Amino acid sequence: MKRTHHCNELRPAHVGQTATLSGWVHSRRDLGGLIFIDVRDREGRTQTVFDPSDLSKELFEKAASLRSECVVAVTGKVRRRPAGTTNPKIETGEIEVAATGLEVLNMADVLPFPVDDPEVASKVNEELRLQYRYLDLRRPEMARNIRLRSKVAIATRVFMEEQGFLEVETPTLFKSTPEGAREFLVPSRANPGKFYALPQSPQQFKQILMVGGVEKYFQIARCYRDEDLRADRQPEFTQIDIEMSFIEREDIYTLIEGLLKRVWKIARDIDVAVPFARMTFADALSRYGIDKPDTRFGMELVDFTEEFRGSSFKVFSGAVASGGVVKALNAKGLAGATQGQIETMTEYAKSFGAKGLAYIKVEKGPTGEVEWKSPIVKFFNDAEKAALTTKLGIAEGDLILFAADQWLSACEILGRIRLHCADVLKGQGKLTIDPNRFDFLWVVDFPLLSFDKEQNRWYSSHHPFTAPVVEDVPFLTTDPKKVRGQHYDVVVNGVELGGGSIRIHQPDLQKTVFEQVLQIPPEETKLRFGYLLEAFRYGAPPHGGIALGFDRLNTILCGTPSIRDVIAFPKTAKGVDLMTDAPAPVAPKQLRELHLELKVPKKE
Ligand code: ASP
Repeated sequence: MKRTHHCNELRPAHVGQTATLSGWVHSRRDLGGLIFIDVRDREGRTQTVFDPSDLSKELFEKAASLRSECVVAVTGKVRRRPAGTTNPKIETGEIEVAATGLEVLNMADVLPFPVDDPEVASKVNEELRLQYRYLDLRRPEMARNIRLRSKVAIATRVFMEEQGFLEVETPTLFKSTPEGAREFLVPSRANPGKFYALPQSPQQFKQILMVGGVEKYFQIARCYRDEDLRADRQPEFTQIDIEMSFIEREDIYTLIEGLLKRVWKIARDIDVAVPFARMTFADALSRYGIDKPDTRFGMELVDFTEEFRGSSFKVFSGAVASGGVVKALNAKGLAGATQGQIETMTEYAKSFGAKGLAYIKVEKGPTGEVEWKSPIVKFFNDAEKAALTTKLGIAEGDLILFAADQWLSACEILGRIRLHCADVLKGQGKLTIDPNRFDFLWVVDFPLLSFDKEQNRWYSSHHPFTAPVVEDVPFLTTDPKKVRGQHYDVVVNGVELGGGSIRIHQPDLQKTVFEQVLQIPPEETKLRFGYLLEAFRYGAPPHGGIALGFDRLNTILCGTPSIRDVIAFPKTAKGVDLMTDAPAPVAPKQLRELHLELKVPKKE
């Protein structure tokens, strides 16, 4: 009873043929003395019919004993379904298989949740789905995601091979290089007291591969970061990791545009327009308040610093006097926001450092005239009001929101509020975005360095291997904030899909960045990056690269809200695998072998 067809293969053209299907009992219905069993495999499902008048009693009873998710092989004749009983929802809906044989390959216990009904399944608690992941993976929605991910991985490999890249694996047991995220450590049994670290990315290895003459490297690489998890993060995740020699930024842009175009075509049959738009970091912040702008809708931030420089509204003029800016956005259609909604927004703005959230509701008053309802308009003069009206295109129904602060804070606060307002408007049906629209964008000209006020030192905006823009190099030690990095991010629909940079390949410049700019003591530089600096002394080609978040890419392509939906065996927000129960305690003997002693605080 070996399968002759898969469960999404039989069509009217097969009528009269004998077929054997293997798979799971998707559903069983007993109707008018007949038993209908839908057999499902990963391709789809087919209805089989057991008729007691054609079958032995034993065979019919065997069919009657089947439960959902039993594994079966059914043989029978393909026939057309009787008129009026076709099912247009499935591709095999015009035929059925009149069973003549049944082999039960395995029984199934009563399921913890049904897998045959997408409505019910979508309401099943995620923890249960993760605990019984193998059942969850059988659901057609999840099967589709896993298949799409595989397609994307294979399309990536084919494309990269066409472009002359070599796929090279790099170690998972690496050395601790504490910069950036917290690492997972692995004790070494053979080297008492020493640890490996799991790599946060293959960054240093891929650069060394360039020194090793590989020229074009890629890898679908597993990376590890021991961070507090957020909704779109996992402690282990996958990147499409890329590095090339003898190139400039433009070469990376062209390569990635080609790759994403191919992937979108194969996964979604969508033609992505290239080249992608480009926006500087400063522009992205000024207009959208974020370095990964969602450009599918407007509501851009508008600057009013000059207009309010001399304002009698001291909150605004005071912010300008202390070197800050005044920015506003027009949330079109949100004038009806309740006091509660405004308070929620204010609290939200405060959680990002705002002191408050000034607003104007533009609504009809009791006399039918359009009024600006706001506790602050009484301080505005006519010129200020006129400027607001023109630059924000103010009309009845609008909600105007302000931020007055230092440039970066004002942008970031309003940027968050912009996204929040968009969500509210979407919820009210006032903003609709085509689910097949993908706004790709390169964000460029990032500052090479950012300042950490608490630690009073500069740190790399991307990573310490990023090359400064050539003409900015002289400012590295004199005026670091002026230095732009040769760093780029690729963004789609407000999601950072990936980022990379042209690297420093001159050992002296790299040493300057480590020691003089980032102020890593020389001994520590040697300990952590000595081998890289040494490698650069033996003929390092100019090189650069990028990494794309592979899980995120698939989340977007699948149109699912959660990164966990595109990972076969994801972890919970606490980093737990609910199916295997990892992480788990180990035996004292294992700890002794690893030369470890535990000091775990007792639970209350
Ligand atoms: N290694 C970097 C990252 O993981 C990407 C790159 O610069 O290529 O973000």
